[in-house]
Amino acid sequence: MKNGWEVVIGLEIHAQLSTETKIFCGCSTRFGDEPNANSCPVCLGLPGALPVLNWRAVELGARAALALGLRVNERSIFARKNYFYPDLPKGYQISQFDRPFSEHGTLEIMTATRDEGGHAREWRPMTVRITRLHLEEDAGKNVHEGLPDTARYSYVDLNRAGTPLAEIVTEPDFRSSWEAYDYVNHVRRALQWVGASEADMEKGNLRCEANVSVRRIGDTEFGTKVELKNLNSVRFMQKAIEFEIERHIELIEAGGRVVQETRLWDDRAGETRTMRSKEEAHDYRYFPEPDLPPLVVTPEFIEDVRRSMPELPEERRRRLMDEYHLSFNDAVQLTSERALADYYEQAARAAQNPRGAANWIRTELLRELEASGRTVAESPVPPEELGALVRLIDEGQINGKQGKDVLIEMFNSGKSAAVIVAEQGLAQVSDAGEIEGIVEEVLAANSQQLAKYRAGKDSLFGFFVGQVMKASRGKANPKLVNEVLKSKLNK
Ligand SMILES: [Zn+2]
Repeated sequence: MKNGWEVVIGLEIHAQLSTETKIFCGCSTRFGDEPNANSCPVCLGLPGALPVLNWRAVELGARAALALGLRVNERSIFARKNYFYPDLPKGYQISQFDRPFSEHGTLEIMTATRDEGGHAREWRPMTVRITRLHLEEDAGKNVHEGLPDTARYSYVDLNRAGTPLAEIVTEPDFRSSWEAYDYVNHVRRALQWVGASEADMEKGNLRCEANVSVRRIGDTEFGTKVELKNLNSVRFMQKAIEFEIERHIELIEAGGRVVQETRLWDDRAGETRTMRSKEEAHDYRYFPEPDLPPLVVTPEFIEDVRRSMPELPEERRRRLMDEYHLSFNDAVQLTSERALADYYEQAARAAQNPRGAANWIRTELLRELEASGRTVAESPVPPEELGALVRLIDEGQINGKQGKDVLIEMFNSGKSAAVIVAEQGLAQVSDAGEIEGIVEEVLAANSQQLAKYRAGKDSLFGFFVGQVMKASRGKANPKLVNEVLKSKLNK
């Protein structure tokens, strides 16, 4: 960023909680069904229909809150957020306002400075203050294309209306677009890790908004902020923030003023554009939802949730570094998702070589998985088998190059490493007696070279090694060949 300026960023994330049914009715939350197939009087907002809280949403909300270092309030209040929009049939959204589900989080994340190409250079820990995580329902969706006559009409699909969301709001703690980027990725992984949300931005079940302002270094007041929406990926968010920082600084340095407004990211144009200005901003007239009692959770409930949680990603990264002596980069990649970390630990145990298992997973296995469009959980090579392959190499049964071919064969056939090595006759000959036999044959067949060698032409040693390896079709253990040859030649 330009010298003398500082950027201030706060983030809001909406994550869809992975319940099977909606938060206040029994309709399915399945993605991709026929429009309006999953709707009922409650989520359609018909008169007299009453909401009933889905307790699974509370459990998943608690998992999310604990995974992000928030304190869960024993008593919180649902509130009506009033506004008119066609995808909101009740005319209000049930959310939480002054008594949220959880508050006061402190989350440690890792963030990196980046080079021009966006590659991480140096990682450091950063503490993010999370203001609150509250529960609310999602709205429906207006459909403007893909249906007949959309030139004249818009459609409303209410399948999404009433889907449970966790809204996660931070303090304005970020000082660069990359810090914001690393935070959103951290949250995404944490929510997936504890099973609270699929957190897939492409499916729209994780959405983020950024509040961005700039000020001159040393100023204590915040500059005028702009709200960025419609950020369909973490990378788009990062680019949009970067664009805004430049725009604000140029504007102020040219004597202009930043206008408080909501802007959208247009990735094709590589710029943000105005969506609505502050004058059109809503006054939501929040008030407590009269149809729902206060949400009360007991300390025992919170304790049960805490006990059922897996080791969190950052703890696991640190443990992998301590226990298996992995590098930071190895440990970061292997804890990018929980299934991969589980896979790694099983493979490392089977291999009895943690670094070797890490290398084979990071280079060979992940490449094969990516090429075949599979996840770690779908790997045709189970972790114990990958570990067995690493052991075969460590024991000198096959070499590393053969190992790569064996892994591809394991991947394609589902056979074990040992079976493939046996079937293809790949195992090295490490039997001294067998190698002695080959050496004697080679010496007998090359009596002229043998005489020259014994007369002092040492350089012929390599020739004999080559002949023995050739006679064994490359399978003789090279170290043993050297030893046997030396003893026979120097007789
Ligand atoms: Zn419903």
